[in-house]
Amino acid sequence: MEWLSDNERFSAIEENLKYINFDISEAALKSGRNPSDVRLMAVTKTVESKFINHAISCGVNLIGENKVQELLLKEPELNLDGCKAHLIGHLQSNKVKKIVGHVETIQSVDSVSIAKEIGKRSVESGIITKILLEVNAGSEDSKFGFSADELFEKACEISETDGILINGLMCVAPICEKEAEIRAIFSNMHRMFIDIGAKKIDNISMNILSMGMSGDYKYAILEGANLVRVGSSIFGARIYR
Ligand SMILES: *Cc1c(COP(=O)(O)O)cnc(C)c1O
Repeated sequence: MEWLSDNERFSAIEENLKYINFDISEAALKSGRNPSDVRLMAVTKTVESKFINHAISCGVNLIGENKVQELLLKEPELNLDGCKAHLIGHLQSNKVKKIVGHVETIQSVDSVSIAKEIGKRSVESGIITKILLEVNAGSEDSKFGFSADELFEKACEISETDGILINGLMCVAPICEKEAEIRAIFSNMHRMFIDIGAKKIDNISMNILSMGMSGDYKYAILEGANLVRVGSSIFGARIYR
């Protein structure tokens, strides 16, 4: 959308949000849930603050950024009254101190050591940070996250850390050719989400199942996602500078 004027982009964002919200409602109903049970996160990496603020004025109440630096840079320019921010990108331990307190949830917790660091910094700040455990749902070498095999054991280990609450699971699914393939991956995530939740472990609440992006959020919802992370379908293709 870069060739468009700002005003044209504002209208495009508004239109896109209408379509996406409609699709979300439809998929939620098909999966036997209320449309209000599925949250839309607008993924704002590389998007300028004025466009993010426009999305917020159109009703977006949750945004996700991948990088600590980018989030902290934009934060003073954003109208975050009534809108929460989550970190959704891989986090390095030297950045934890900077981000704790600036986001409601860190979705991309992919190791015990990063969870412990978040806990330590949260305790220092006198807060509890909600985290999601990232699962490498497609077992890809190139992706971060716990393997399905180790997830439960690691969740138990992390749950003993002060200063954090495990609030669910997230995944970045592989690009699949076939609908059945991607749905099987989402369905497996949903099974782990339910199984771990059923074990009723202290400090583990399986409230959020964050999966599905622009290309696959409808399938994710059909398989049980209650938070979808949508970027380019709202804001247009990303331009990395
Ligand atoms: C970029 C990103 C998204 C959104 O991707 P789109 O395909 O643009 O919707 C979602 N989740 C994560 C972790 C991302 O990095």
